[in-house]
Amino acid sequence: MRKNIVAGNWKMNLDRNQGIFLLHDVLERLSVSNKTEVVFAPSFIHLYKASKICKSINNVFIASQDCSVNTKGAFTGEVSAEMIASCGAKYVILGHSERRVNFNEKNDLLRRKVDHALVNNLEVIFCCGESLDQRESGVYFEWIKKQISESLFGLSAVDFTKIVIAYEPVWAIGTGVTASSNQAQEIHGFIRKTIEERYGRKIAQSTSILYGGSCNPSNASELFSQKDIDGGLIGGSSLNADDFVSIVNSF
Ligand code: PEP
Repeated sequence: MRKNIVAGNWKMNLDRNQGIFLLHDVLERLSVSNKTEVVFAPSFIHLYKASKICKSINNVFIASQDCSVNTKGAFTGEVSAEMIASCGAKYVILGHSERRVNFNEKNDLLRRKVDHALVNNLEVIFCCGESLDQRESGVYFEWIKKQISESLFGLSAVDFTKIVIAYEPVWAIGTGVTASSNQAQEIHGFIRKTIEERYGRKIAQSTSILYGGSCNPSNASELFSQKDIDGGLIGGSSLNADDFVSIVNSF
């Protein structure tokens, strides 16, 4: 059985006090019997404290928003997968479009980051998605298949079970324009089929595939009711406790 997951990507927001305040605010509103896995992806400064706070809470985990491609040494400003794991994080988000576009992260670099993450026992939330141009010119299926296959399909079947996919159409991220549930389901179904061709039905059926891109309390239930949508990667709406909890409760 695959998991339903709602992950909040705080991006470069919230100082130490604000971040810990928001975390407590969300935790207080979450139902104890919550069956959906809830993930917070704060900036590096929060990883250790947030992991400590969430450690004993059922189904709540911490993710880093990135990790270095290097293991250690003279890489000023970088944070390694090993360091992130030592803070208590369960996941690392890799391949977010803001990193692909603003930091020029390509499929091969991401493949190497995925390897580092897995070696250090981090699971990976791997983002993929097309630009508006690619959607309009109809090349988005090939593009998404290339992103996934070039960065992930060298993994063994056992390692692939540590991957969560997040489909995030770039034109929907932070724009207020959401993919319709049909558009999202079409791609999620395609991603699952692509995984099945490489790893077989059992693994494809147990892989969680999240939707991201202007997901909010008013569109989450419709999106999450689609058969291949297993939750969301949430940006803007994860910064508001009411909105985020309402999305978590949208299954
Ligand atoms: C994101 O950055 O992963 C994201 C989905 O952002 P937003 O929800 O703000 O579109």
